[in-house]
Amino acid sequence: MTQAILAFNSGSSSIKFAAYEVDAHAKPTLICKGMLDRRSADAEIVIKDPAGKIIETGGARADGADSDLAGILIGHVEPLLDGRRLAAAGHRIVHSGPDFSAPVRVDSDVLRKLEALTPLAPLHQPGGLAPIRTLLASRPDLPQIACFDTAFHRDLAPIYRRFPLPIEFEAKGIRRYGFHGLSFEYIAQRLPKPQTRSVIAHLGSGASLCAIRHGSSVNTTMSLTPLDGLMMATRSGAVDPGLVLYLQQSERMSASAVEDLLYRKSGLLGVSGISADMRTLLASSDPSAHQAVDQFCARIAEQIAVMASGIGGIDALVFTAGIGENSPDIRRNVCARLQWIGVQLDDNANAQRRGVISAPNSKVEVLIIPTDEEIMIAQHTRDVVVGAVS
Ligand code: ADP
Repeated sequence: MTQAILAFNSGSSSIKFAAYEVDAHAKPTLICKGMLDRRSADAEIVIKDPAGKIIETGGARADGADSDLAGILIGHVEPLLDGRRLAAAGHRIVHSGPDFSAPVRVDSDVLRKLEALTPLAPLHQPGGLAPIRTLLASRPDLPQIACFDTAFHRDLAPIYRRFPLPIEFEAKGIRRYGFHGLSFEYIAQRLPKPQTRSVIAHLGSGASLCAIRHGSSVNTTMSLTPLDGLMMATRSGAVDPGLVLYLQQSERMSASAVEDLLYRKSGLLGVSGISADMRTLLASSDPSAHQAVDQFCARIAEQIAVMASGIGGIDALVFTAGIGENSPDIRRNVCARLQWIGVQLDDNANAQRRGVISAPNSKVEVLIIPTDEEIMIAQHTRDVVVGAVS
């Protein structure tokens, strides 16, 4: 019987999902995809066909934090599988900790280990693990595979993996991991010239850069937690580590108040005082919105140079995710700050969102490549389970 895999990409307020037909060799083929918005009590589900046409809507009637939304969602998706058997669910899990560096089938022991990492990814880990926890109870026979955002960075060299701290901290798992790995892996497989020195800019609500050489991650801007590196929608990105001590010692802020400040009240939201949403800021004439946008772009440009230094230069710069794929203004702002490194944008191509958006004489090829984390989840999940269950 043909088999299907359901990929979950769970955020704090929504679950993106996609069902694929899989076999052992071919690329997974999309059957349907959708989104469950869990902000309202009657969690709304929208399911679309591969062409983007809505084929089903429904409510999941969430009744409490532990509602089996994923189980209800499977109830909506299974009738759309046309007789294919649901072989597994794959999940994007942000943090693997030191124990996992590849996709893994989750049982209650693994789940406990992953739940213990919540302080290292407080915005993401709970939402990613919630569907696994409820499905372990409601569908105990359904294999569930955790696909980690950290895994693509597993081979970072010691100079980029270690913090400049005494060695015993690395032994405890306190080191640089990196995130957005499913997105970077997808893009790395689609680079027109994989041998080139490439920097990928994943710019969504979360944002990070990855330096790629020969298809592998060499360095990345996020580190122990998804708070490091670039300025983001509500996250500060890198700040002076002394700031954290100062806030606690002199401003008498508790650890959880500092967490709230740096993860939820900073970044575009904090600087602008207006919104965490890039579209809103770009549409605003308020000087603080301009300041937030410029600060966001300046940090990206500066860190692209840092990433390039780890791979000996830069031949290709790729923009992806919500802001990277959709905002000509942000791409123009970032690229204007990189002319000294040989970046020349083609303004028409940038405005029209074509694949290659650099000018013919640009020393660095600039591209837009839309990301697809769900298909990476499906591919990894297939690799773990299909052999075992067919
Ligand atoms: P998430 O990390 O939540 O998956 P996305 O990758 O969907 O985030 O990116 C969300 C961000 O993309 C938001 O800040 C949104 O404003 C921005 N965005 C989406 N479309 C556009 C656009 N046309 N112009 C500018 N920003 C956009």
